[in-house]
Amino acid sequence: MNPKYLMDTFEVVPKKSLGQNFLHDPNALEKIVETADLMPGDLVLEVGPGTGTLTVALAQSRARVVAVEIDERLIPILQQQLADFPDVRIVHADILETEIADLVGNDDYTVVANLPYYITSAILRHLLETSHKPRRLVLTVQQEVAERLIARPGDMSLLTISVLFYGKPAIITRLNPAAFWPRPDVASAVVRIDVYDQPPVDVPGEELFFKVVRAGFGQKRKQLKNSLGAGLGFSHAEAGALLQEAGIDPARRAETLTLAEWAAITRVVAAQRAVQD
Ligand code: SAM
Repeated sequence: MNPKYLMDTFEVVPKKSLGQNFLHDPNALEKIVETADLMPGDLVLEVGPGTGTLTVALAQSRARVVAVEIDERLIPILQQQLADFPDVRIVHADILETEIADLVGNDDYTVVANLPYYITSAILRHLLETSHKPRRLVLTVQQEVAERLIARPGDMSLLTISVLFYGKPAIITRLNPAAFWPRPDVASAVVRIDVYDQPPVDVPGEELFFKVVRAGFGQKRKQLKNSLGAGLGFSHAEAGALLQEAGIDPARRAETLTLAEWAAITRVVAAQRAVQD
């Protein structure tokens, strides 16, 4: 049902601080459900169901849905909208404070969400870094974020590398602000991330890999030998030697490196640590 009508009926006003822009365009909803590629009985974790338009569309495809909403004012709306769907569970919680395994158990699951834009990166990290990962995510995000997810070397960011480490992102379609109520100030896009069983690169440990990548991006637009040195506690000369050993020009900048190059640096850092220990 139309989000504005529901909010008016329940006398609730949207909270900008929770990123509440509700999707009402039926074509967009259909495209999102189609992209999720669900079989009857598949489990979906929906983050931020809002007034339940997407939740209803997912339930109609006969998926089982666990929908996690932080705003308690929306819970009665969701309960009313989903009363006819016994396979939908509504959970009142902050997704960032919730263990994903407590929501989905051991079952395979897909994440489908029109994300609150103010915490997109934090939610992505929370969903991808969890030990029981989704097999796929279908997310509505700001178009600018969608473009960062599929950036090429030269424009890569910490977010790009973090997502590429776990899965294969693709932009499915762009959405006009008119698809939402209230209208957001920015354009949006639906992205699909197919999650790998194993990372596509060989690293001696996820934690060290992200420590290296974070150090590399820690000082914007600096040469790698400076940013890595500062972030990992090496001198510039040591960081330069380490990069050369990994086959990387120490004067390059973090945004130009591929996932495989970050993995190569991580292996050299790990080998160096093993010698020092
Ligand atoms: N899925 C709905 C739709 O498409 O119409 C609503 C999408 S709206 C962009 C984002 C939703 O996420 C809001 O309902 C908001 O209250 C909820 N939300 C914001 N932060 C959250 C959090 N940390 N955990 C769970 N839900 C959250």
